[in-house]
Amino acid sequence: MSLRGRLAPTPTGFLHVGHARTFAVAATRAGNAGLILRIEDLDQPRCREEFCAAAIDDLRWLGLDWTEGPEVGGPHAPYRQCERTAWYLDVWRRLEAAGAIYPSPHSRRDVDEAATAPHEPRPSETGADTDAEPLFPPSLRPALWDRAATPGAVAWRFRVPDGRTIEFDDGLAGRVRRTAGVDFGDFVVWRRDDLPAYELAVVADDHAMEIAEVVRGEDLLTSTARQLLLYEALAWTAPRFCHVTLVRDAEGRRLAKRTGGLAIRELRERGFSPADVLSAALEQLAVPQP
Ligand code: GLU
Repeated sequence: MSLRGRLAPTPTGFLHVGHARTFAVAATRAGNAGLILRIEDLDQPRCREEFCAAAIDDLRWLGLDWTEGPEVGGPHAPYRQCERTAWYLDVWRRLEAAGAIYPSPHSRRDVDEAATAPHEPRPSETGADTDAEPLFPPSLRPALWDRAATPGAVAWRFRVPDGRTIEFDDGLAGRVRRTAGVDFGDFVVWRRDDLPAYELAVVADDHAMEIAEVVRGEDLLTSTARQLLLYEALAWTAPRFCHVTLVRDAEGRRLAKRTGGLAIRELRERGFSPADVLSAALEQLAVPQP
């Protein structure tokens, strides 16, 4: 079986071996069902055109090809989130009309100060979920707020159902459970700088692009629980999920944008072939068929 999938790089740095691993798994599982390239470039100016062009070039060099693009630009143009704000606004409106979200003027500092206990690392099945967002204290939820036609100058948060456990069967990580109000709190869907937040944009796009299976790094397992709540509030069917273990360096640290020699660019320059890079990326990883 093949499931329509996507590659969703954020162009804030060069792609590294960890990206090659996730994207190779995504391409294998998508098979001939279709694979979309979506550049997640909402966070301007951290996203740079130079990294976007490099990501496309590295993907081509690895032989990971995508099958579809937006109407403008043809099948091999990537979708770009920075061009899709009208759609994200539409999704924000649906969430607002459903009463699922509320305006939240509190800064990160307010949130830290209102938290009763210092934030402790939360348990996770795999130990690799690096989600470290502080829990938003329910005491900062507003009792009443003005309805709004647009999100405007304050952040908007999704109100999570405290105490409810969200469970899903992951294609690689197995059965995953996260409890709202314990593992994560009310999360931002629209930022105070008037940009859609990651959780909203990714759900809006995976739904609109008819993605059947989302393949990504296991650092996003808790985000998946948040996103399942968004699918439910929007009355949309959620895709399947497959979270890939992270590639770590010799000291066991996860690879970041500064990759210390493991950027695909650098490996290319050092003379490695695409097959060398892919086999190093997939080492110790069994890739099941969906
Ligand atoms: N753009 C995200 C990243 O580069 C991936 C998000 C996702 O796959 O949902 O880490």
